[in-house]
Amino acid sequence: QHATRDQPVGATVACVKLRKVFPDGTVALNDLDLHVDAGRIAVLLGPSGCGKTTLLRAMAGLTVPTSGGTTVAGRPVQAGHRASPNVAMVFQNYALYPNKTGFQNIEFPLRMARVPRAERAARVNEIARILHIEKLLSRHMHELSGGQRQRIGIGRALVRNPSLVLMDEPLSNLDADLRVQMRSEIKTLQRLLGMTLVFVTHDQSDALALADDLVVMKDGQIEQLGSPDEVYDRPASTFVAGFLGGMNIVGIGSLPATATSGISRLDPSRVTQVGIRAEDFKPGPGTPQDLTFEGTVLLTELLGRERLIHLEVGDTKLRVRVRADVPVHDGRFTGHISLNDVHAFDSAGQRTTL
Ligand code: ATP
Repeated sequence: QHATRDQPVGATVACVKLRKVFPDGTVALNDLDLHVDAGRIAVLLGPSGCGKTTLLRAMAGLTVPTSGGTTVAGRPVQAGHRASPNVAMVFQNYALYPNKTGFQNIEFPLRMARVPRAERAARVNEIARILHIEKLLSRHMHELSGGQRQRIGIGRALVRNPSLVLMDEPLSNLDADLRVQMRSEIKTLQRLLGMTLVFVTHDQSDALALADDLVVMKDGQIEQLGSPDEVYDRPASTFVAGFLGGMNIVGIGSLPATATSGISRLDPSRVTQVGIRAEDFKPGPGTPQDLTFEGTVLLTELLGRERLIHLEVGDTKLRVRVRADVPVHDGRFTGHISLNDVHAFDSAGQRTTL
């Protein structure tokens, strides 16, 4: 028998022309527009300093925008005011009370909201059951591992049935295995509970694994927004291509003749760079329709079933991923990629057609 939960309904989040300029003149958010539909996981991905945390803090009402605004479930976020009880935040350092037990930490937001004792206990126990942390409730924070603390932090965020949960790099203190496990648990929980989740990370695998809507940010603006598949398969710019999947970006002038013979239609006034994913290479020379690269192996790295080859072709360095059993003879390697796997970019670094 567990407490009846009001099934939370995810909140829609809308940021309109959001701008944040810090007193030193740093433009952290540059008139950014973002819409997140109810019940979705939006992942904010981008390099350090691109404005992810500032955007999340604006959604939480923890930062006052210079101009523009945010609504959550249609209501304007009042910066400087206490965040709505329907909005919960999970921080990178968990921000738990060290001298309280797991139970007391998770219970705290309910106490603040003056929820009666019996109901508090029922809710804490239910969330602990969902998170598989019943056994941790009696422990103090110093008796817990990083992953266990993280679960307590998530429990505390979810205990009030929030309609919007904001998470700022919540996995960054965890080791690789635990990180992978926690992110699938977070996704499972979100699917179970139905809240909207906005998740900040600079880790591309977390982003691809978690997102419904992947928001790639650069310099306080959105560089690309789409499903993980869309963004990965059709990066809108060399910036996105390089950040997500570490695509090889090669200037047309640096492509060897064996490579360009396949793209005779190439219009160099339009296409100035091509993007080639390391994993799209196939060993050996291709047909005349393919792009063939032959070069010197600078370094190889075994990745498990695959091997990463650092290949030098003329004055261009390429990363090439092939199956680990593909032989590399005498420091030379020949590989090819199909024209369909070539991404084309113009002089501004924007995606274009071949
Ligand atoms: P990270 O991944 O490193 O956390 P981020 O994408 O979350 O980076 P923000 O923390 O949002 O980036 O910072 C965006 C920009 O605003 C950065 O240039 C940062 O230095 C600047 N910034 C953030 N907070 C302040 C502040 N209080 N005063 C001045 N500049 C700030």
